[in-house]
Amino acid sequence: MTAGTYQNTRLYINGEWCDAQGGATLDVVNPATGEKIGTVARAGIPDLDRAVAAAQAGFATWRKMSALERASLMRKAAALVRERADSIARLMTMEQGKPLAEARIEVNSAADIIEWFADEGRRVYGRIVPPRNVNAQQTVVKEPVGPVAAFTPWNFPVNQVVRKLSAALTTGCSFIVKAPEETPASPAELIRAFADAGVPNGVLGLVFGDPPEISKYLIAHPVIRKVTFTGSTAVGKQLAALAGQHMKRATMELGGHAPVIVAEDADVERAVKASGAAKFRNAGQVCISPTRFLVHNSLRDDFAKALVRHAESLSVGDGLAEGTTLGPLANARRITAMASVVENARQAGAKIATGGERIGSAGNFFAPTVLTDVPLEADVFNNEPFGPVAAIRGFDSLEDAIAEANRLPYGLAGYAFTRSFKNVHLLTNQLEVGMLWINQPATPWPEMPFGGVKDSGYGSEGGPEALEPYLVSKSVTVMAV
Ligand code: NAD
Repeated sequence: MTAGTYQNTRLYINGEWCDAQGGATLDVVNPATGEKIGTVARAGIPDLDRAVAAAQAGFATWRKMSALERASLMRKAAALVRERADSIARLMTMEQGKPLAEARIEVNSAADIIEWFADEGRRVYGRIVPPRNVNAQQTVVKEPVGPVAAFTPWNFPVNQVVRKLSAALTTGCSFIVKAPEETPASPAELIRAFADAGVPNGVLGLVFGDPPEISKYLIAHPVIRKVTFTGSTAVGKQLAALAGQHMKRATMELGGHAPVIVAEDADVERAVKASGAAKFRNAGQVCISPTRFLVHNSLRDDFAKALVRHAESLSVGDGLAEGTTLGPLANARRITAMASVVENARQAGAKIATGGERIGSAGNFFAPTVLTDVPLEADVFNNEPFGPVAAIRGFDSLEDAIAEANRLPYGLAGYAFTRSFKNVHLLTNQLEVGMLWINQPATPWPEMPFGGVKDSGYGSEGGPEALEPYLVSKSVTVMAV
């Protein structure tokens, strides 16, 4: 790969980079310019069949290797990712739009995630259980579940793959990922690092194509033993149902609608700095993005003014340009979605304190937007906007704010700002979320659980909990004779 040039992406099957058997491709577009920058191979069923056969053979090889050997190959892959971080980040910015600095953070944190999982896999212990008959020995052995099918979205092209891939590999599973067609080159480079590190043929497969066709085929395939998906709640429910029909384990990391509760005693400056940065990171296309800003009425105007100042200080532009802090939205669908979210809020009575419009006509640029006095019934307060739009409402009592936070079926991330221990206690016990960050931005480190409750899905992609879904427990009892 040459730094600065975009490359066409191929499939990776059984240790080989290849075109789709039928030669089909899909176009890849730079969201900052709207121009085609390359293509990605579009797999058909014969390609999937080869990928599944390879994953079956790869599983037989990989599960027999020791956890130490697997960890050592994973650590080599992490080192290659770090070494290549700059060029992988450039590909990501070209295909996804995020500022280069954010892309670099994503790639470097992928290396960190691989290393954490590599080490954690060495601590997958079984147990010895005291037997009822003293002549017996009872043990619980942990085994890899088998070949995994993963489906990942375009918002964090590398990060969404690496958590799943690392959990699968460290537990001894083989892994096929249908990575995002809109942002294929950067996840392909992640896979390349593992291939170059010496992970055996068949252990890893990379395909692209028609998402419903591939998920339907892979989830039903008897060789696949586990499914993992990140994306919208609507699609997650379909795939979970399909996994259920075929008795496949499933991890579902779905949409969110994160509340940000700014209590009466909060440090407003800190709250705006932390939640403003989180809101506009990756142009708001983040499942844990702060979305419903619930601010105590005594602080509401000050908070809104400061968030508007923050939004207006952002430099919107091509993610590759020096100084850009807000890139384009990843695809044209999001521009239409943002325009409709803002118009719906305006009609419902919200005020547009800043932004609210597309910028220019080339590329998918949308102004960072702050809406105030947003009625509860406005779409933005009910459905995930997945874009650079912050919606603010006031509250009088913390109990009311918590009730509002819990009103929606989503339960992924939550944020709160307060100096009081009593409030922290209340928030910790009552917020229905999978992840809660208080007085700080999100820090989704690999050692902490990552996942949601309610319609935001099930299963974790961080912490020791992330390994469990890739393992089965075998109960073995032996009688001394
Ligand atoms: P979408 O619902 O069509 O697709 C979301 C993701 O799911 C994409 O990666 C897509 O390729 C994949 N997908 C869709 N149908 C599939 C199927 N039948 N089988 C397998 N994969 C399938 O929406 P979109 O326009 O791409 O994204 C917009 C919405 O998706 C957002 O509003 C947001 O709610 C959600 N999203 C969530 C995340 C996340 O991190 N949780 C990431 C990206 C998108």
